[in-house]
Amino acid sequence: MGDTIFDKIVRKEIPSDVVFEDEVALAFRDINPQAPVHVLVLPKRRAATLTEFTDQDPSYLGEFLKRVSMVAKQLGLEENGFRVVINQGRHGQQSVAYLHVHILGGRQMEWPPG
Ligand code: IMP
Repeated sequence: MGDTIFDKIVRKEIPSDVVFEDEVALAFRDINPQAPVHVLVLPKRRAATLTEFTDQDPSYLGEFLKRVSMVAKQLGLEENGFRVVINQGRHGQQSVAYLHVHILGGRQMEWPPG
């Protein structure tokens, strides 16, 4: 059991701007948005990183990915598209050790990322 800021958000010990929640995932708006729409989606079954997360039961991984897609649709991003990002570790510039998927949309993205 970790104790990152996201653990506290999942436990509702600190507030967040929730856009979706069920037994599988919690999605809330990023406090420092990098696009007009910037939401983070977290699995309720915590893992620190993507590589740790993928040790879970594959059906849960599928259910979680469905939630990411559902949230993007709910936010109205399907038509124009959006970007999904997972940062891991030092080179990936992961700053919170609780796996989270960034959904970014509402503007033209660029490639490659910095
Ligand atoms: P990472 O760099 O991929 O780990 O992303 C962490 C993200 O969490 C950053 O985009 C931060 O702006 C965001 N963040 C940090 N603290 C909070 C918070 O309390 N509420 C919402 N977003 C947060």
